[in-house]
Formats: sequence, structure tokens, C-alpha cells
Amino acid sequence: MGNRSGRLGASRVLVALAIIGVALPWQFARGAGNALPRRQMRHEIFYRIRTSQPMVALTFDDGPNSYTPQILGFLRDAGAHATFFVVGHHALDHRDLVRAIIDGDNEVANHTWDHPHLTALLESEQKDEIVRGAGALAELGVHPVWFRPPYGLISSLGVRDALALGERTVLWSMALDHEYRLHGEHADDYMLRNVRPGDIILAHDARPKTFGCLQRLLAGLRERGFAVLTVSELAAEAKPF
Ligand SMILES: [Zn+2]
Repeated sequence: MGNRSGRLGASRVLVALAIIGVALPWQFARGAGNALPRRQMRHEIFYRIRTSQPMVALTFDDGPNSYTPQILGFLRDAGAHATFFVVGHHALDHRDLVRAIIDGDNEVANHTWDHPHLTALLESEQKDEIVRGAGALAELGVHPVWFRPPYGLISSLGVRDALALGERTVLWSMALDHEYRLHGEHADDYMLRNVRPGDIILAHDARPKTFGCLQRLLAGLRERGFAVLTVSELAAEAKPF
């Protein structure tokens, strides 16, 4: 009886090893193709930054444009910094504004060349958008370390393409426009009640309707002791999720 159960035990171990033997190469094979393994992809997209310190990152997408100087003024008045995810051809059209963003101790990052839905493009077109966006900034002497896909939509291929350029993909955990649609002029109240250390806040250069809320949000964050930083400044403070 003892021998029999011993044999049974051994065969169970063999079965288990066989399953692991099959499962492990399969896991690696999934990651060996063009796409990053799903698990790795999750770790390469940042929505917020893990920190217990009262600090957030503020980000502005789609510029630079005629509203950018006004936003730079708001930031300066509030002692805040932000990361500007700029569209490549807008950056080349407004080189002086890219310079003004940097001169205000803010950060410039890649938001593609022409702001397409990346996931609707062919693999080569998707890569081209990301590479051309980075190339436009390189022409201005800027070498971004963050990439944000338009509309927040990206495949693991896009994450990999950005990473190959030294750019990590960052989305957001709180969005001013979204809260403005829901709460109107009370969006800043709602955001101040719900903001957490490490949040990454999305806003846009060209949404003047939200500028009142933006200014009150900046003042409210300051009153509550929150530092408003670039993504790089926030990321330097703590380990990302
Ligand atoms: Zn955008």
C-alpha cells in the first residue's frame, strides 16, 4: 500500500512537471514575438506614481498652441511645473513655445507626430508616428523620456516602440476635461476632494473653458500642501506602480 501511494505521489510530481514544462515555454513564446508580454506591458504603462508625499504631476496634451503662454503664466503664478505632451508638427510650427515651456522649468514629451488613433494604424505606421514625434523634438534639441498615446489608446507594440526610443508610456489617473464635463465649474472642488499623492492629472492646452477650474485647482493644491510637478519630477520621488 505504502509503495503504491509512493508511486502515485511520484507520478503526480511527474504530471506536475510536465504541465510546468509545457506551460513555461508557452509563456515565454507569447512574449517572444513582436509584442511585449502582457505582464511586462502593464508595468511599462504608468497611470500614477507610488508615493506617500503630497505631490502630483500635471500634464497638458496636444499643444503647443496659442493658449500655451496663458497656461505657462498660470503655472508660474502657482509655483507649479507640468509636462507638455506635444504633437510633433505643432512643436515644429511653434518652436518659440517649446522653448518657453522648457524655460519655465517644465518638461516636453512625445505625443506622436500627428495625433492619430494609433491602434487603428498598421504596425509600421504606428511606429512611424511615434518615431516622427520624437524626431521633431530631437530637431529642437529635446529628448523626451515619456510618451503618451493620443486618446490613451495603445497596443503593446506601441509601448515597445516608444521604449525603444527611451520613452516610457504614461497615461493619467485624473482628467480635468472629464471632470469638467461631469461637474462643470465645480470640477476643481471634485478633484481637490479626490486627489491622492502620486496622481497624474491630464489637461489640454486648448480648452479655455476649463481654465477657471485649472487656476482654482492649482491654488487648491497649493493650499493643501501638494507640490505640482512634471512627470519626471514626480517619478524621481518614488517607485512607480
Ligand atoms: Zn492628445
